[in-house]
Amino acid sequence: MGNQGVKKKIDNLGRIVIPKEYRNNLKINKYDELEIFLESDHLSIRKTGQYCRICGGGTSIHKVEDSYICSNCIIKIKKC
Ligand SMILES: [Zn+2]
Repeated sequence: MGNQGVKKKIDNLGRIVIPKEYRNNLKINKYDELEIFLESDHLSIRKTGQYCRICGGGTSIHKVEDSYICSNCIIKIKKC
């Protein structure tokens, strides 16, 4: 994936198709829930529940109640 990205047109209902290659790489399947973030000048999209709610990291994730928290943040919380 280069800096150019893939160009897609938004349809009349505001939808775009996420390229199949991207979906395969990120293991995004039909009916998965995605989160869309409004950044300062762009949007970012990621699969729900795979990232630490505190730091945004994606490794050593544990489910805590309805959130996902990484091991590093759990250690930091325990120190509080
Ligand atoms: Zn974390």
